[in-house]
Amino acid sequence: MGVKRICPNCKKTFITQKNAKVFCTKRCAKYLVKKKQKINKFHLCQWCAGKFRPSEYRTKFCSCSCRGSFVEALSLLRRQNIRKKAKNSTSEIERRSRRAGLSYGVYVAVNKL
Ligand SMILES: [Zn+2]
Ligand SMILES: [Zn+2]
Repeated sequence: MGVKRICPNCKKTFITQKNAKVFCTKRCAKYLVKKKQKINKFHLCQWCAGKFRPSEYRTKFCSCSCRGSFVEALSLLRRQNIRKKAKNSTSEIERRSRRAGLSYGVYVAVNKL
């Protein structure tokens, strides 16, 4: 007589002759082992550097507030970089245009051609 079981992975009911059998197929058993390995791995939060167990495979932050802070800081940094770059390129263009004896607007227009 077989024993009726529910596979913890696919939730399918199956009948087994062996008492130790938990999963309906070998594939289901392997899948759960893999899943467990992923979950047991600790990730380092990219914001506070704290260890955490990710609920999803690609999670990089321990909490929503850490993710929010990271995104905010990143956008601030980008904005600062863009401003810095824009400043540099503007002064560079201005310097060159002065050397060429052109006004800034004319120089830009010429270089766009
Ligand atoms: Zn199964
Ligand atoms: Zn964190």
